[in-house]
Amino acid sequence: MVPTAGIFGIHSHTASLAVVLVLAVLAVIWLALVYYTWADARRRIADGVLVACATLAALFPFIGTLVYTIVRPPEYLEDVHERELEIEAAQARVDQLGMRACPHCSNAVEREFLRCPHCLQKLKDACVNCRKPLDGDWRICPYCETERELEPAAASSYRRQRARRDPQETMVFPPPSDLI
Ligand SMILES: [Zn+2]
Ligand SMILES: [Zn+2]
Repeated sequence: MVPTAGIFGIHSHTASLAVVLVLAVLAVIWLALVYYTWADARRRIADGVLVACATLAALFPFIGTLVYTIVRPPEYLEDVHERELEIEAAQARVDQLGMRACPHCSNAVEREFLRCPHCLQKLKDACVNCRKPLDGDWRICPYCETERELEPAAASSYRRQRARRDPQETMVFPPPSDLI
C-alpha cells in the first residue's frame, strides 16, 4: 500500500484534520491578537505611525503582541486627558480659594495670611490702622490710606535696609519714625 502524503507527514485522515483545525484556531487567535493590538494601541498611543508600527509588530505571530503588551504605554489616552483635566480643575479651585504657595516652605497658604501656619515665617505686614494684609512693596495701605512707614515693623525693616545700605547715614540722619 502506497502511503498518501499528509500534513507534516501525518497519514491518518483524522489526525491531519485535527492538525488543520488547530492551525485554523491558531490563525484566528493570531488575527484576533493583531486586531486587539491595533485597537489597544489606538487607545494608548496618539501617534498614528507608532500605532501602525505596533500593529505591524503584532503580525509576528503571538510574540509581537506579547512584546507590545510589555512596552505599551501604561495608560489610556482618555485617562491621561482626564487626569490633566482634574489637575487643571484642582488648580482652578486653588486659585479660586485665593491660595498660593508659601515662599519659605511651599505649603498652600491663603493670600491674606500674615504668617505661614506651617513654617511660621512672616508673609505680609498688617496695616497698623485697619489690619488688612499689605504686600511687601506697598508704601501706603490701599484700604485706609495709612502711610506704610508709620508701621513699627515696616519702619524697623526700613531701618534695617538703610543700615545695610549705609550704616553711617542711619546713625546721623535717622528717619523720623525712629524718634517714636
Ligand atoms: Zn511656610
Ligand atoms: Zn489700612
